[in-house]
Amino acid sequence: MGNFLGPVAGFGVTFATMFKKANTEFYPFEKKPTAPRYHGRHQLNRHPDGLEKCVGCELCAWACPADAIFVEGADNTEEERFSPGERYGRNYQINYLRCIFCGLCIEACPTRALTMTNQYELADSTRASLIFTKEQLLAPLHEGMVAPPHAMYPGMEERDYYLGKVTEAAPGTVTQGAAAGDAAVGDVPDEHEAGVR
Ligand code: SF4
Ligand code: SF4
Repeated sequence: MGNFLGPVAGFGVTFATMFKKANTEFYPFEKKPTAPRYHGRHQLNRHPDGLEKCVGCELCAWACPADAIFVEGADNTEEERFSPGERYGRNYQINYLRCIFCGLCIEACPTRALTMTNQYELADSTRASLIFTKEQLLAPLHEGMVAPPHAMYPGMEERDYYLGKVTEAAPGTVTQGAAAGDAAVGDVPDEHEAGVR
């Protein structure tokens, strides 16, 4: 008897499902917002005057279980300054062929330079295009920011940046030297640190 009722019960599930409303996603025509703390594409953040928060420490790269991050740090100089303090991330890459969006890298970052946005549309047709460079990952320049390299806010120390004492670039701040053209390329995605984890 049990052998007979088993298939009947199975077909009953199939039959009942026929009358349920289809759960169809109309992506990409209808895009549903993600959860606020969704782990999407990364972003390298800036201080309010435009200097970069990344100090090139490589902690994110060491924390990554998928070996997806490459960082090369370099020294700031007074002639060419990209971040407050001693070091900055000269070269920075994230390989989205490897990344599993676990978020361990952003937990490891001591300066909140690295966060994750809600952007999830990362599919592409070539392997090379899924290795994002520093220029692609850098946050856009918002009002009050000047593209690095440029001097720190006059009279401020590195820790003042983290205490929130610098709220915009000092009047008269200009981008230093010939590297200016390269540095301004980072104006890509418009997802700021807010809503980002
Ligand atoms: S989210 Fe995870 S896998 Fe992706 S780069 Fe960060 S630590 Fe690596
Ligand atoms: S993103 Fe953060 S952890 Fe990674 S190198 Fe820059 S400062 Fe260090």
